[in-house]
Amino acid sequence: MAQKLLGKPVAAEIRERVKTYVAEERRQRGTVPGLAVVLVGEDAPSQIYVGLKHQAAVAAGMRSIERRLPEQSRTEDVRAVVEALNQDPGVNGILVQFPLPPHIDRQPILDHIDAKKDVDGLTRLSQGSLAQNIPGLRPCTAVGIMDILAHYHIPVAGRRAVVIGRSALVGLPAALMLMQKQATVTIVHSRTLGSADIARQADILVAAAGRPGLVDGTWIKPGAVVVDVGIHRTDHGIVGDVVSQHAEELASAVTPVPGGIGPMTIAELMQNTWLAYCDQVGR
Ligand code: NAD
Repeated sequence: MAQKLLGKPVAAEIRERVKTYVAEERRQRGTVPGLAVVLVGEDAPSQIYVGLKHQAAVAAGMRSIERRLPEQSRTEDVRAVVEALNQDPGVNGILVQFPLPPHIDRQPILDHIDAKKDVDGLTRLSQGSLAQNIPGLRPCTAVGIMDILAHYHIPVAGRRAVVIGRSALVGLPAALMLMQKQATVTIVHSRTLGSADIARQADILVAAAGRPGLVDGTWIKPGAVVVDVGIHRTDHGIVGDVVSQHAEELASAVTPVPGGIGPMTIAELMQNTWLAYCDQVGR
């Protein structure tokens, strides 16, 4: 039976630490970090995520700023909102909630975010810093994966890691961060041939394909550590990309869904906002 790598206690620890720093900052200097979330349109899951981010920021003692724009907004409208937030010294972190309505160009908006405030780590500058392994803000979910591995003392250096998925948000940054921690990394993606055979070589298998139940027992090497990033709401509740029963039987450790990587992402967002604030105020 695999060990469960629970994200909740790790996330709670991070959030508590950030809250303590913020309280101390308020006491000593009378200022706190501000996190702004930009939401365009009425996407229902996005409304929930934005609500959770707002609650987390408030719970950490930060200022939470929401900018809601109508579905029919143009790319220039969203850019103008981002520009105003860039200029606002009370805003230290800016996050544009995805998905954007299909008529809006995503990258010009992302690239308009001041890299110092890019708490999602998605601007070209942040992604370039990550690729070069120089300081900068990193995508929250990928940081969450690395922190959960570190928390449970999962060795990474010298091990073979396979990351399923190559998105800028999760797969690619997770692969780069694993490599920077000295793992030997392979990425498999939607066009890879023989993905299961490649995955079965992994000591650390990160599933971020966004396909419920894609990773069954044929993808998992006995004794591997499995990190399931997928989140899918189904009639049977929330499931991941991994068939949890197979992972529990075969793996040495697995992140559960829900309660694994999910809580880490919001905790890392709080941490990124704190780091962005410190950088901006010269702390
Ligand atoms: P995405 O759709 O942008 O990327 C999916 C990636 O998986 C692509 O690179 C694609 O090539 C690859 N892929 C698709 N089908 C594949 C297949 N059959 N075999 C191998 N690779 C395949 O998704 P994303 O934003 O990277 O998110 C991935 C999953 O993680 C989603 O389920 C998402 O909901 C979840 N997610 C969870 C959190 C969290 O906090 N736990 C945060 C972000 C994303």
